[in-house]
Amino acid sequence: MHEMSIAVQIVDQVVELAGQNNATRIDEVVVEIGLMQLVVPEALEMAFSVATESTLAEGARLKIVEQEIEAVCRDCDHRYKPRIDCYLCPQCGQANARIVAGNDIILKSVVCETEQEAQLP
Ligand SMILES: [Zn+2]
Repeated sequence: MHEMSIAVQIVDQVVELAGQNNATRIDEVVVEIGLMQLVVPEALEMAFSVATESTLAEGARLKIVEQEIEAVCRDCDHRYKPRIDCYLCPQCGQANARIVAGNDIILKSVVCETEQEAQLP
């Protein structure tokens, strides 16, 4: 499953980050995912909860931010937001597009608890 491999990558990254910050638990993870990835959010959430089992991120919330697809026309330099199934340039009608956004998986933020914070009343 596509979502599972993405989830594993995300969990690897956040667990490493948490380790560097001496975190004891990860509460929330925010990722930005390009629409080109064709990720099903529910499937990714499910894969994430499986991938986080027995890690610092077990039980963490996953927030998914969608990144819109952007393209630049190679013929007329027009920048536009194409649909996933239609890359025609709205200005000149050519399908000679260069995709400049919408294909990324970016870890935006991680909220974690350190031992000290966890001891606060
Ligand atoms: Zn064009």
